[in-house]
Amino acid sequence: MGIIPLKDWFDEFDNGPVMIVGPCSAESEEQILQTADYLSNNCKPALFRAGIWKPRTRPGSFSGVGSKGVQWMIKVKEQTGMRLTVEVARPRHLEVCLKAGIDVIWLGARTVSNPFSVQELAEALKGVDIPVLVKNPLNPDIDLWIGAIERVYNAGIKRMAAVHRGFSPFERTRYRNMPKWEIPIELRRRIKEMSVICDPSHISGDASMVPELAQKAMDLNMDGLMVEVHNNPPLALSDSNQQLSPGEYCNMMKNLVIRCLKPEDPGFLDYLEELRNQVDSVDHQLVELLSRRLEIIDIIGEYKYRNNVAVLQMDRWLEILKTRLEQAGLSGMDRYFTENYLKLMHQESIRRQTVIMKKLKDKEEKSTDNSHDN
Ligand code: PEP
Ligand code: MN
Repeated sequence: MGIIPLKDWFDEFDNGPVMIVGPCSAESEEQILQTADYLSNNCKPALFRAGIWKPRTRPGSFSGVGSKGVQWMIKVKEQTGMRLTVEVARPRHLEVCLKAGIDVIWLGARTVSNPFSVQELAEALKGVDIPVLVKNPLNPDIDLWIGAIERVYNAGIKRMAAVHRGFSPFERTRYRNMPKWEIPIELRRRIKEMSVICDPSHISGDASMVPELAQKAMDLNMDGLMVEVHNNPPLALSDSNQQLSPGEYCNMMKNLVIRCLKPEDPGFLDYLEELRNQVDSVDHQLVELLSRRLEIIDIIGEYKYRNNVAVLQMDRWLEILKTRLEQAGLSGMDRYFTENYLKLMHQESIRRQTVIMKKLKDKEEKSTDNSHDN
């Protein structure tokens, strides 16, 4: 794909992570201007955000102020010079934004979850040159996310970035939306030039967790952050718990550590290279050891078959878990990680032995049939 990276969208984006900041919803002209004013004077972000039409989960919740909010946003641009971004869910929303001069639009998680809605917007985007942010869908379905990106791209939009805002859980968890960091990482592997922005506000659902999630996103080398900031969070009409005050946001930015991807110091690179060689060597040995382990598992499978013994031996499995977890614990390894590895290995052993048993049984039956035929 020929997607243009975020830093090349506008001149002022070429300087560190791109920050997209503003309230969940535009509520009044005063609220928008107060929030924008503070940000612009203290820790100016690249883009100012606000929801104008709000796709709410339950009817009866505040559903946005509608088109007049776009006019308040334009005032923000006139007074502060900040560029603007707004969520669009319908072609009609897009039309209002284009007419008013909104700089960037975004597709929300609920919209991206529905290919009909995305396709409708993609049709409306044909022939229009506006950058588009595509949030992840509600469910952890990377193909649905990529599908939405492709629909927008096929409409001719080249300035596109993905926004990672987490995935809806059914159970109550520490997060409002599960981050599942592996999904945005996989998205980048599948579409190399894709910039990814993290939205720690919707992942956490809780203002106190936003800074640690923002730092994690930076450590994973994401290209920017979308953060909800409200001039008076306790009074916010939507997502009140997760919005930072402008002061809290500026404070977070002061403490955010941006680690560079590839420092140029040759001494640093030499030592990194040496350590990576060591990791390569350990990985090589690990693969050899794992394949040796699986060979023995196969021999045991055959032996169990010959002696009519079941594949799963619970006592043995519990003993493996206990002894390996003890050993790993002594080496300071994380229990959850070790348990996951052991379970994966055990599943693979069971799978292989089941295949072996079936193969040997089929072979035996064939030879019995043959001897009957003769
Ligand atoms: C929002 O950004 O306010 C919003 C509604 O986000 P999402 O689509 O991620 O739920
Ligand atoms: Mn919100």
